[in-house]
Amino acid sequence: MRAKQILNELTAYKPGKPMEEVQKEFGLDRIVKLASNENPYGFSPEVKKALPTFADDQEIYPDGYGTALKAKLAEHFDVGLDQIVLGAGSDEIIMMLCRTFLAPGLNTVMAHPSFSQYPHHALIEGAEVRAIETKDGFHDLPAMLEAVDDKTGIVWLCTPNNPTGNHIAKAEFENFLRQVPKEVLVVADEAYIEFLETDDYFDTLAALDEYPNLITLRTFSKAYGLAALRVGYGIGHPEVIHKINVVRSPFNNTTIAQKAAIVALDDQNFIKESIAKNNQVKHSFLAFCDAHQIKYYESHTNFVLIYDLPVSGDAVFQHMLSKGFIVRSGDALGMPNSVRISLGNEQDMAEFTVLLEQFL
Ligand code: PMP
Repeated sequence: MRAKQILNELTAYKPGKPMEEVQKEFGLDRIVKLASNENPYGFSPEVKKALPTFADDQEIYPDGYGTALKAKLAEHFDVGLDQIVLGAGSDEIIMMLCRTFLAPGLNTVMAHPSFSQYPHHALIEGAEVRAIETKDGFHDLPAMLEAVDDKTGIVWLCTPNNPTGNHIAKAEFENFLRQVPKEVLVVADEAYIEFLETDDYFDTLAALDEYPNLITLRTFSKAYGLAALRVGYGIGHPEVIHKINVVRSPFNNTTIAQKAAIVALDDQNFIKESIAKNNQVKHSFLAFCDAHQIKYYESHTNFVLIYDLPVSGDAVFQHMLSKGFIVRSGDALGMPNSVRISLGNEQDMAEFTVLLEQFL
């Protein structure tokens, strides 16, 4: 069959084995997943209460405009309704951005390592991928700017970055935006922004009026704990949003997901509490790393990338799996001898650090 040649070279995304399968395979009582940067404290109790009330009307298509959710987001972020696009997770928005702004003959600039879906969808669209090595885990913005030319469609700035966890400082981000040509779309992927622990951060939403070539991506999958419902959103200039909406499939967010996201956004107490617990756990995990001379990248997220380990990331992954902890090997992320650990709750992390101490 005829198909895009690139599809023979790329592989489909491989989700981890279902937790039940791992549990059976190793005869374990329970499994703790520290691999996909979800919220270990779940999601808002208000959402849990409201979910059963959303059970009706499943035979009717969802609101394809996502009107109520967009109105809620518009109010929350003080932006216009026409500045918001919704996606089935920010994953889908990344795919739509590539479909909208990339094509054969164009290129896209990103950091390496960074989120794997940027190069994946860019390559499917036939674009050239220019992946610029991070410097100590940080985006090398001067080198990224140098890689931009008159064929660049998108620059991806993942801040805080997955998998390194660090963020782009305010002045650096602003300098980059000032210098990058206005024809280039700059995507600020802020999937982990809620966990940020510094004021030295460029407020992308406040800059949208000045920079119509900027779009901010956020998600309900991380701090909001609603990964299963698949809700992400982009906030940008109406013209950019209009173009993405042309590409968007008609009913890409379910009714339940739209309604749950509205309730989730209203419960900022839950978010505050989750962030406080996450950051406390993070600091004690980093103190553990310091005490054991384990190197790590500065993290402004709900995960930590430890590196320069005496063993491969895959070896740590396999060992931890046999003990009931699923972590992400850096080997799979293009960073050998490193492991990305999503921060669990206090008790899970206490157990995990004992195992890590014994293994390293
Ligand atoms: N961007 C980044 C940086 C991520 O880490 C993730 C999740 N792994 C996503 C986007 C996609 O998240 P979702 O599709 O669940 O919104």
